Amino acid sequence: MKKLTLWLFTLAASLAAFITAIIVIGLWLWLGGKQVEFELQIFDVVIILVSISVILFLCLYIIFYKPFIDVKKLLSENPFSDMYAFYTNSFNPFISIKKAIKKNNDKSNAELDKLNTLEEYRREYIGNVSHELKTPIFNIQGYIEALLDGGLEDKNINRHFLEKADKNVDRMINIVMDLQTISRFEAGELELHKEPFEIYQLIEDVIETEKETAAKSNVSFELFGGKEIIVNADKFRIRQVLTNLLVNSIKYCKPNGGETSIRIYDLEDSIKVEISDNGIGMNEKHLGRIFERFYRVDSSRSREKGGSGLGLAIVKHIIEAHGETIEVMSTPGVGTVFSFSLSKPKKED
Ligand code: ADP
Repeated sequence: MKKLTLWLFTLAASLAAFITAIIVIGLWLWLGGKQVEFELQIFDVVIILVSISVILFLCLYIIFYKPFIDVKKLLSENPFSDMYAFYTNSFNPFISIKKAIKKNNDKSNAELDKLNTLEEYRREYIGNVSHELKTPIFNIQGYIEALLDGGLEDKNINRHFLEKADKNVDRMINIVMDLQTISRFEAGELELHKEPFEIYQLIEDVIETEKETAAKSNVSFELFGGKEIIVNADKFRIRQVLTNLLVNSIKYCKPNGGETSIRIYDLEDSIKVEISDNGIGMNEKHLGRIFERFYRVDSSRSREKGGSGLGLAIVKHIIEAHGETIEVMSTPGVGTVFSFSLSKPKKED
């Protein structure tokens, strides 16, 4: 507050000097005009000057000091306030206030924009979730109604309808579990359990698991390179990444089937896994968005293949939680390549 006191004192003294000068000149002119002997000692002038200064200083102190303290208090209570701007900058305390308020406004506006974006995101997210769940719920309702309306007694359809309803229940469970995984990642609740393991063997396992589904769509898998390479990662989560990417290469293959190649590249301290298919591919404009939740290039194809639009969002979360990156390249009608890195155990691990 020294700055403000000094500032008020300077202002009071300057005003006092000005007023004293006017008084002295006024007296001199007035009394001189009346032919009155007028002589003012320097001591008298100093007394007038000091008295006016003190009175003015007190007035300014009361008029400005209190509101100034209140403004400062309000500013420091505001969570967006930048009091640094207040305390540094400028001899003039009012300029400090102005700067602090300006910074405060800028921050509030930025914060408001962020809140608006989050609100829009939340609205879109709720819309997407309800839309995704609506389809299987209505399907199940349809099958149950058909069964209640006599289908239960019809041996030709009762089992079939129950199986269809069961599939829709599975679909709902998958969506809910995927959503739960994503929100736990976003809330930072999902911890990775890193361990050293052979990546080649894990990929072979995933291929084995998905072989049957691939064969149904006439898709074949090939695995190259990197036998015996050890990586340090969360095996369960990397299995999830590989499964999602391999299943996508089956879902988005061409009508006559296709080939998916998985290559492991050894890069000194890390490895790169590349999964390339010769499927339907994607236009470049979609590539920046496919890792967003619920984003699909072709919604009807994705739904028809049982996709929720959440697979790649999970993949990205898992890879980024490992501190690694995932990239995609694609050409419509030619195919798609996903590649991600993983680190090897450090020497001391
Ligand atoms: P979905 O459940 O719809 O498959 P994903 O998050 O796994 O959701 O993928 C998002 C979208 O990216 C898909 O809907 C699809 O349009 C596109 N996509 C993903 N992988 C491939 C691929 N290998 N080839 C072509 N398109 C793909």
